[in-house]
Amino acid sequence: MKKKIEKVRERITRAALRSGKDPSEIILVAVAKYANVELLERAVEFGLTDVGENRADQLVEKHRVLGDRVRWHFVGHLQSNKVKKVIGIAEYIHSLDRMSTAWEISKRAGKLGRTQKVLIEVNVAQEETKIGIAPGELYSFCQEIVQVPHLDICGLMTLAPLVEDPEEVRGVFRDLRQMRDDLAARGIFPNFSHLSMGMTNDFEVAIEEGATMVRVGSAIFC
Ligand SMILES: *Cc1c(COP(=O)(O)O)cnc(C)c1O
Repeated sequence: MKKKIEKVRERITRAALRSGKDPSEIILVAVAKYANVELLERAVEFGLTDVGENRADQLVEKHRVLGDRVRWHFVGHLQSNKVKKVIGIAEYIHSLDRMSTAWEISKRAGKLGRTQKVLIEVNVAQEETKIGIAPGELYSFCQEIVQVPHLDICGLMTLAPLVEDPEEVRGVFRDLRQMRDDLAARGIFPNFSHLSMGMTNDFEVAIEEGATMVRVGSAIFC
């Protein structure tokens, strides 16, 4: 696994340099859904700093063992009734996709006296099976969400369709970057900078298109 992590880091570095970016500014979020706690602990010993989970129960369980040795990211679909579990553990919630969840996060974060970092999930490719805000509704969603307290909106996230050749989804990543830049230009969020995009099959293309966080699971744990 040490080799796999090194290999992924190397690929991140090369993709960043290729496109004139500083590799140290790209956060590798190791998505641990394929790993049990023991495997994840070993991976952390090999230098992983950021770990993602897509299920609240798993996040709680793994956090119980690893505590604050890593930064935690919640990347899965977040139901309102699971918000309570995720808040207080996840530094970033990548997958905000509805107002009701935003209010629930706000309420819980407020009670803990903290501000929750979130990214808005966008269904760039408009796939029916995928969740996320439709691109056409993003601006109005953002206008609404700026009014919710205790949220720090840090950027956008997307899942690209699964394709054989990652070049096919380059346009998806480019579109997300454009949406981020458009929103930033309108100045509605002060800390709006992150683009969470790219997984095992397509993270290099995503980095070339401006990803600041890549969510990699299988290339590390499988
Ligand atoms: C599983 C998962 C990933 C990682 O996928 P791999 O293809 O295994 O790298 C990234 N993001 C989300 C939301 C996931 O559920």
